[in-house]
Amino acid sequence: MNLRIGNGIDFHKIEKLDEEGLMVLGGTTIRSYYKIIAHSDGDIVLHALSDAILGACGEADIGYFFPDTDQKNKNLDSKVILNKALEIMKSKNYYILNIDITLVAEVPKINLYRDQIKESLAQLCKISKDQVSVKATTTEKMGFIGQKEGIACFASVLLGKN
Ligand code: ZN
Repeated sequence: MNLRIGNGIDFHKIEKLDEEGLMVLGGTTIRSYYKIIAHSDGDIVLHALSDAILGACGEADIGYFFPDTDQKNKNLDSKVILNKALEIMKSKNYYILNIDITLVAEVPKINLYRDQIKESLAQLCKISKDQVSVKATTTEKMGFIGQKEGIACFASVLLGKN
């Protein structure tokens, strides 16, 4: 069996809002009192996932394809990044077997949104929901994540070959 594994990791700064706002996570929008600071729309889940897919394909990282020094990538919809990774994957005859996401964050709490994020990822990747896991953990208030200065996301993906 021809299998390929890929890992992706992403970090972003977060900032407290005065009022509840919207945060894009996994291609869907959730409500949060924090916002992600980023050059693009800051979808940390799609960034980590795209890197995992590219990694499994033996390709470079998303920064190589979408440099943050390029003005046209400002406020970029991260679905464009994921679609590029999926396009490369398909061109190499790979397909997704499963996706495993772990968000490391004190905020936002994703329990209320887990299913919504899973659904969104399944739709974007054209796979079924049971091929997607979305998990979260904290750092027990330690470090920059614990102090709510930033969040991290880890993604693993397993690909099969047609
Ligand atoms: Zn990112």
